[in-house]
Amino acid sequence: MFASPMAVTANKIAKNLDRVRREISAAAARAGRSPDSVRIVAVTKSVDVVAIKNCLKAGLTDLGESRPQQLAERFAQLDEYLHQRRDSLHSEVRWHMVGHLQRNKVKQALTAADVIHSVDSLRLAEEISMRAEADERVVDIMLQVNCSQEDQKSGCAVGAALHLGEMICSMRSVRLTGLMTMGPTSGEPGATRRAFVRLREVFDEMKQEKIGGDSFKHLSMGMSGDYATAVEEGATIVRIGTALFDPDAPAVN
Ligand SMILES: *Cc1c(COP(=O)(O)O)cnc(C)c1O
Repeated sequence: MFASPMAVTANKIAKNLDRVRREISAAAARAGRSPDSVRIVAVTKSVDVVAIKNCLKAGLTDLGESRPQQLAERFAQLDEYLHQRRDSLHSEVRWHMVGHLQRNKVKQALTAADVIHSVDSLRLAEEISMRAEADERVVDIMLQVNCSQEDQKSGCAVGAALHLGEMICSMRSVRLTGLMTMGPTSGEPGATRRAFVRLREVFDEMKQEKIGGDSFKHLSMGMSGDYATAVEEGATIVRIGTALFDPDAPAVN
């Protein structure tokens, strides 16, 4: 998949986006929420740079990558392109690091990322804060929680989230903006919904403890195969790749 990224036309992306937006609106309505409370992050890991430019044309300015190296490369390519065109979108594009992050890749990720969704340990948060401080910036991060019963590689345990959140909020150069989870790989609808409900419960509990203050407001959950369920359960950020670029392919989860 990484060897030959797909080219996808602007037209196709616009059509797919239209469908995704309609699904989000319907799911939001079922939950009594406004569709405007849900932001789409276009996960571009399987497409080429032309397709990423086409995302911008379609109005998608939140872009996500799951590997630090590819994130850094794409950021640089797009940045140069927008800069040369003196495109006003330049200031609107936000890059999201959504995949597992190792501490030795933090420096690379920070050359590009505006938001890191996948912080799942104290040591990783500390590394990000330290690097950010050296750059005299504050980086938005989300705490990834493992809400499914499966043993996934990433995400802190549900029982550890509150304490970790507290510790993160005492660090100088990161800002905790919410929680992130991945639905179970089984894709079984009941298990998927339970995982999303669980994340919202953890979020509510942390809110009650006043962790993170006003900037703690996001639930990043839902991918191509389960974003409607995620929106029904309170997602404010959905991370979508396949459904935007290749809706005929079987969903990843
Ligand atoms: C790839 C990926 C996505 C998007 O997955 P799709 O099923 O293609 O929508 C979302 N989140 C993370 C962490 C990913 O790695």
